[in-house]
Amino acid sequence: MYSTGNRIAWLQGPNANCAKTGPVAPRPWHLVLLGPPGVGKGTQAEKIIGEFGACHLSTGDVFRHAARSTEAAAPSPAMATALAAMKRGELVSDGTVVELVRERAQCLACQYGFLLDGFPRTLDQAHALDGILARVERKLDAALNYFAPEPVIIARLSGRRVCSQCRAGYHVANKPPRVADRCDACGGALIQREDDEPEAIRTRLRAYAATCDPVLDYYRRQGLLREIDASGDPEAVFAQTRAVIQRLQPARAG
Ligand code: AMP
Repeated sequence: MYSTGNRIAWLQGPNANCAKTGPVAPRPWHLVLLGPPGVGKGTQAEKIIGEFGACHLSTGDVFRHAARSTEAAAPSPAMATALAAMKRGELVSDGTVVELVRERAQCLACQYGFLLDGFPRTLDQAHALDGILARVERKLDAALNYFAPEPVIIARLSGRRVCSQCRAGYHVANKPPRVADRCDACGGALIQREDDEPEAIRTRLRAYAATCDPVLDYYRRQGLLREIDASGDPEAVFAQTRAVIQRLQPARAG
């Protein structure tokens, strides 16, 4: 069982240093997780980390972290615009997202490896990622594309709840808390993310559909794309994920 740093450098930016705990996996994986919001990339990321190591680098988490921090201090104008777009379920501009990842380039070179989640979402972002990786002398091992029918995704997203205190994740049907609307870990109130409200969900899925094909094609043409059917339960999906990652190993070693 592997663990990684605490991701503070990713969440807060280049001035913060991760506290590194736990054994480092024998080899760092460099993976991009693709798929619509709600398809289960976050859940698969947790399982990949446990079995293969690598840091879960989600651009959505950076924005949510900034949204919480800005309750105390005013955000920069660029971040305020980004957070307003996120709240509506729209994509943040390529310029802002790429800058945010570029500032965190050292996270892509980290000894633990990475699972990029939610980035790249557009072809321009995919090109920018290549440039950032070249500068830190890293290469992608694969882009894992999770797909599922839209009704499955909407049901997953609209049932999602998060603890308002410790941010632990729940689902009203698939992972209910022991006491209704209360966090098992800390007793905090469970809330729905603003961008998981029905109107924002529809906007997010439309935004994904409008930009995903060129990104998928981009990785397909490079032989990096691996397709994973995410309509089953998390264990069944992880069985496919594991098989895909294990098959990558010989290809890299050879
Ligand atoms: P996620 O958790 O990946 O669904 O991201 C939550 C929200 O953050 C998205 O709906 C966007 O508003 C914003 N966001 C995260 N990553 C990106 C990205 N790569 N490009 C544009 N917007 C993003």
